[in-house]
Amino acid sequence: MGRTIVVVGGVAGGASCAARLRRLDESARIVVLERGEHVAFASCGLPYFISGEIEEGHKLMVTTPERFTRRFGIDVRIRHEAITIDRQRKSVQVVDHQSGQTYALSYDKLVLSPGAAPLRPGLPGAGDERIFTLRTIDDAERIRAYIESNDPHTAVVVGGGFIGLEMTESLAHLGLHVTLIELTDQVMTSLDLEMAEWIHQHLRMNGIELMLGQGVEQFAVSGDGSLLVSTSYGNRVNCDLAILAMGVKPEAELARQAGLRLGPLGGIRVNEHLQTNDPDIYAIGDAIEVQDGILGVPRRIPLANLANRQGRLAADHICGKEISYANAYGTSVIRVFDLTVASTGVNEKHLAAEGVPYRKSYTHPASHAGYYPGAVPMVMKLLFAPDTGRIFGGQIVGIDGVDKRIDVLATAIQMGATVSDLARLELAYAPPFGTAKDAINIAGYVASNVLEGDLEIAHAEEVECWLAKGAFLLDVRTVGEFHRGHLDGAVNIPIDEIRSRLTELPVNKTLVVYCLTGIRSYFVCRLLRQHGYRALNLSGGYMIYCAMYPNRCDGIPGLHRWKRALALETFCSTPEERSVVRRNTK
Ligand code: FAD
Repeated sequence: MGRTIVVVGGVAGGASCAARLRRLDESARIVVLERGEHVAFASCGLPYFISGEIEEGHKLMVTTPERFTRRFGIDVRIRHEAITIDRQRKSVQVVDHQSGQTYALSYDKLVLSPGAAPLRPGLPGAGDERIFTLRTIDDAERIRAYIESNDPHTAVVVGGGFIGLEMTESLAHLGLHVTLIELTDQVMTSLDLEMAEWIHQHLRMNGIELMLGQGVEQFAVSGDGSLLVSTSYGNRVNCDLAILAMGVKPEAELARQAGLRLGPLGGIRVNEHLQTNDPDIYAIGDAIEVQDGILGVPRRIPLANLANRQGRLAADHICGKEISYANAYGTSVIRVFDLTVASTGVNEKHLAAEGVPYRKSYTHPASHAGYYPGAVPMVMKLLFAPDTGRIFGGQIVGIDGVDKRIDVLATAIQMGATVSDLARLELAYAPPFGTAKDAINIAGYVASNVLEGDLEIAHAEEVECWLAKGAFLLDVRTVGEFHRGHLDGAVNIPIDEIRSRLTELPVNKTLVVYCLTGIRSYFVCRLLRQHGYRALNLSGGYMIYCAMYPNRCDGIPGLHRWKRALALETFCSTPEERSVVRRNTK
């Protein structure tokens, strides 16, 4: 028998690491210690098990301890918890929760993949048995059993991150009336606020009561026996069950007690080989801090894709391969009812907070060719360097085709690509799947136009400032669109009348031009520029303006409602094309 490698934690990172270790080293003794009952299960599927979309719990088990042992010759010890590490002796103290006995286990190399635990702040009344958190299969089974035996009608979900949104959708899917309470002014903080506004609107459209900008202050039992949730705004919500999804905390205590260094965010600090400050101890997954690939600052990114890759890389390094895990980008995707919401890289809030100069552009490309049935728009935000055009981050909200676009963006960012590279990319195309100029190319064209000075843009938040400086606000949509809602102070000249009405435009003023999405206004800006005007295109058009200032626009219409208008605007120049799109977007 060769050296002994002990892995603490047997789920995403730990199981991935142990299996890779065996593939690289047949002679090693590999021991996996797992505190819980299961190894290698799909935490990410838990919300869909609760909703019933995944009917049987066993489908979430990627493998069982027995199969893991049989297939890989790995010593898997469930209900065994590592309680201390003696770095001098290179040994782990373990408690066997089945027998209650403790024992010492020596290692040559130790891998820590203990994950992160749901935050459960000590709010008054939070001990009520109808209040749940979700991390393990047992948690999911408890929630499902509670729902099956108590037939609840109402639920409160606390926290609008990944798990909170997935649980909101799952409970609504089961027919519960759900209130989602979020402390900040938006759900999904990996996105910027105006992009999250589509999620807010979509949640409300699906009957979710959304309470933003307020924290839960206490739980109590109301007169009728239901759970009473009070918020910092003084709101009180009665419900039959509550889910706490307020974030996670790295399980770093074992590491801390062993004198391993933690980072500023409370996660275990590792180098590019995923080693802690003790070179014989590696750490991976939700418990560690990673370096942000754009900003270079420490970040905690509790996602399964990172944990799995880190598990493999740590095994590679233990087995003598050269690896470098320098950066992470937080690429993520989530379904929220009909929406797909995805992001990669860094968002505008973080760039601004770190004082990094950036530019941004918005586009509303179609998921696939508009003349092919089922085309729907998406909202895409791109952030990039003002000098080189290097892509810093991307955010996409849409109904279809979002996942593949975010993965192209994620790949591009990780390769250090610029917005001009996006414009040049050759991507697959056929009408059911995309457009001849793919959504990614379009984002690249628009950003490159901005960067190369072919197009000057203004952003929604700058409009008032431009008006104060005497700018002329020009709406180039149809008269009907204009009357349904427009920016204060705008003058309407529909795009097709611009050439004949040029004399109505002031030559000595800056023109801020907008339409629904920024496409028609782009054409107009190019035209005006060639006639000697200074014309700025409102990036993302009226749609982004409304997302930024929903109160000034009576909220933002959903992408579903806008899909016909967008399709018409985006694809049609002839009446025949318009009638095809009308038929396809009924
Ligand atoms: P875990 O998978 O949590 O495994 C850690 C294990 O270590 C635990 O089983 C724990 O019992 C064990 N352990 C801890 N301390 C000890 C000890 N001292 N001794 C022995 N064992 C110990 N990520 C995505 O990318 N996409 C998604 O869609 C997604 N959805 C999610 C949905 C839910 C409901 C949850 C809970 C998570 C989701 N995630 C998702 C996150 C993803 O599951 C985690 O990022 C990933 O599981 C982290 O892997 P890990 O190995 O670091 O920790």
